[in-house]
Amino acid sequence: MTITEEALQQPKLTEQKQRLLVDLSREIAAHQYDNASQILVEMQSLEEEYSSATASSQPGSANLLKLSASSIGDYETCPYKYRLKHIDKVPERKTRVTMEFGIIIHNVLDEFHGSEDQSLDNLLQLLEKHWRTDAFEYLLREEEFKLQAQELLKAYHQYIQAHPPQVVARERKFSFTIAEIQVMISGKIDRIDQEGDRLAVVDYKTSKNKEKAKGSLQLALYTEALKRDAVEGVSGKPGSTILHFLRHPDDPLESHVFDTADLDKQMEKVTAVSAGIRKYEFPTKPGDFICRNCDYREFLCPAWEEN
Ligand code: SF4
Repeated sequence: MTITEEALQQPKLTEQKQRLLVDLSREIAAHQYDNASQILVEMQSLEEEYSSATASSQPGSANLLKLSASSIGDYETCPYKYRLKHIDKVPERKTRVTMEFGIIIHNVLDEFHGSEDQSLDNLLQLLEKHWRTDAFEYLLREEEFKLQAQELLKAYHQYIQAHPPQVVARERKFSFTIAEIQVMISGKIDRIDQEGDRLAVVDYKTSKNKEKAKGSLQLALYTEALKRDAVEGVSGKPGSTILHFLRHPDDPLESHVFDTADLDKQMEKVTAVSAGIRKYEFPTKPGDFICRNCDYREFLCPAWEEN
């Protein structure tokens, strides 16, 4: 097949896929999960047919694959889940309350660090402004989360009173291409601070569990973005990368400075994930915790059905 023929086939593929997606949404809405699974199988063979045709027509060539820290994380966690979420775009059935909570807190801190008024009163008023009652299923749950939000913002305020950051940018987008593997990485950094002659990046975490900054692909990609001068409107040498765990007021920070060896190691993950996606390898990867929190477990997931 010539490249021109392939270009002609692409709209056809998209059209067929769109038709299948409409069918898929209808079957999911009607709770007809067997039918939905069948449609997914059809979608998979359509994609496979297309990718094997294009692979054979363009030896050695690869289209640009767009990834982010979270989509790479999804593939590493469970390739099948990645496929449902990012390729088939099957909507997750419920929006997690904890996710909504995280978004609210991020919005509050973003506006707070852009405001001249750095008082606690202002911070708590911003919580009122960004609070979304409709994000919570029922009143008791909302009240419980609101209290948590107030507590963690008070603790955060205390922390920054003692360690005032020199904020350079907030919610700043970046994107760069790793030419060797034709992968475009994009994302958004919560906060960038000036720290001496270096730039520190800060990522707010509202999760209960802490993790080490050194193992964070997300932080490594932020460092790489600064190194490549790929962050919108910000230039400077990367320094510390910091996870600020808002639910851990006594010991909120996990930080790490990524050196070349660390970055190479994290880039190997990106290479492995992109190779898997390009080969259309999406096996299920069941695990107790991950499956328990997966929206696809009771429908569309063959691994779960087998259990
Ligand atoms: S239920 Fe488990 S195996 Fe199935 S898609 Fe979700 S995470 Fe993957």
